[in-house]
Amino acid sequence: MYLELEAIFNREGASREFDYSFALPDELIASDVHVKGSVYKKTGIVTLDAVASYTLGAVCAKCNAPIRREVSVRAQHTLIPHAETQEDDDYIVVDNMRLDLDELIGEDIFLAMPYRFLCKEDCKGLCPQCGQDLNAGPCSCKKATDPRWDALKDLF
Ligand SMILES: [Zn+2]
Ligand SMILES: [Zn+2]
Repeated sequence: MYLELEAIFNREGASREFDYSFALPDELIASDVHVKGSVYKKTGIVTLDAVASYTLGAVCAKCNAPIRREVSVRAQHTLIPHAETQEDDDYIVVDNMRLDLDELIGEDIFLAMPYRFLCKEDCKGLCPQCGQDLNAGPCSCKKATDPRWDALKDLF
């Protein structure tokens, strides 16, 4: 969705609310992205404040279990109509008074996304030897003492 911002930039106290969904094609995003928020001008500053929510579809980095969870990302930005000062990460410069909200929200979603996902914080993962899911219980590998492993351990 594009937000036309001329009326917001030009009038103190102006505001506009939005509540919509858009498709963000990515293998990790298993639903449309729902965006709800507003853009408003207060004491001369134009602020965009929104919450984007979507269903994450990923696999656990340790045990490969599928992960599906609802994720919410807060998007809060100060908007300026053109670069008044030097480039600054704190501001979003809006060209032609027109903001591509989908693009901005998409960037916020990917910035907030962790580098990897775990099914739970203390996931035990898979046994490197037999591949058993150790969340389901210990495998027999650790108990079995292989003399060849003991010989290797002595080397280190
Ligand atoms: Zn896991
Ligand atoms: Zn094992």
